[in-house]
Amino acid sequence: MQDLMNRRSWIKSGALLAGSAALLPTGLDALAATRPAERLSPLASQLTDEEALLAAPVQLRARLSANENPFGPSDKAKQAITDSLTSCYQYPLQARDLMQKIADFEGLTPEYIMLDAGSSPLLLAAAMHFGQQGAIITGDPSYADLPRKAEKFKAPIVAVPLTADYKLDLEAMEKKIDGRTALVYLCNPNNPTGTVLDMAKLKAFTARVSKKTPVFIDEAYIDYLPDPRGSSLMDAVKQGQNVMVARTFSKLYGFAGLRVGYLVAQPEMIKTLAQYAVGPMSISAPAIRAAVVSYQDQAYMQDALKKTLASKQFLYDVLKREGYEYIPSVTNFVMFPIKMDGKRFVEEMGKRGVSIRNWEFNGKQWCRVSIGRMDEMQAFAEAFTQVS
Ligand code: PLP
Repeated sequence: MQDLMNRRSWIKSGALLAGSAALLPTGLDALAATRPAERLSPLASQLTDEEALLAAPVQLRARLSANENPFGPSDKAKQAITDSLTSCYQYPLQARDLMQKIADFEGLTPEYIMLDAGSSPLLLAAAMHFGQQGAIITGDPSYADLPRKAEKFKAPIVAVPLTADYKLDLEAMEKKIDGRTALVYLCNPNNPTGTVLDMAKLKAFTARVSKKTPVFIDEAYIDYLPDPRGSSLMDAVKQGQNVMVARTFSKLYGFAGLRVGYLVAQPEMIKTLAQYAVGPMSISAPAIRAAVVSYQDQAYMQDALKKTLASKQFLYDVLKREGYEYIPSVTNFVMFPIKMDGKRFVEEMGKRGVSIRNWEFNGKQWCRVSIGRMDEMQAFAEAFTQVS
């Protein structure tokens, strides 16, 4: 991990943190070493991104708390929405076109695909189905939506701490599988740490584990990776494994407010989960049309990625300058340990018009900041310099 972190900034922050002796020798590695043993049901105290946004000041200068993409949707998507308005009295039957497009790209047939209004309803469908059957194994911290909803159906949640380099601990997760396990939920890349799993390890894990337990992989941030296809578990579905892959247009495509997501799994599993979801009829016709023209629009995607990377580099520079370390991120958000109470940090940043999220794990307070436009990152930098 150390080679991943910036040593100079660590030395600087170490000096600033005189008195925090446990932090000094090995930086974030030492923090990781203090991580707690497996906890059950850790989710109750966590806010959702939606709750955090609702709690934020109304007048925001920088909305950096929900991992949205302010560079989207694309101009083509906006045009498709405008063009579709006159036919909005019709039900959204174009969902078939979108399913076919996704199926063609992935080398599958539409029976493997389920569409809904964002990926949240698909996570909910899985939570309802598997949550009634047994325990859910997940990372800690990881995206809590599916486990949190499964908990409502009395599912025990087995939350497995991350590795020392803030990745899902596949080995530890596999060891937790037993007769009561209903589902393994993996968020890759992981939210909130922004880390990605080694593909060879992930493939080997899934090939083994899916023989005894279904694996649900949430690939909401996969489009931010240099090689999304090579980093996805779509192939595992194609090979017939009991794997579900959730995708969303909410992130790189900039559709968080438009609401389009899909799940890819074995046709039998799609039929099962479809019992718990509304499906394409919950997506508006303009959103579907916009998704059809946006899907795999490489020119738009590369442009949004370039802007995201520039804003992320700006953020890294600010954090280094202020003497902070961070977890290097493959996504559109960055997590770093803060030096004050997380709630107070959120409030102080909020007073300055900047919304971010706080976490507590490994006995430390953390901030997760989403990557915004450059003006938003500048607003973050200004507020952070005052608060930090
Ligand atoms: N999965 C992950 C990992 C997320 O971070 C989010 C949203 O932040 C979602 C799923 C849900 O997104 P949506 O319902 O907008 O597709």
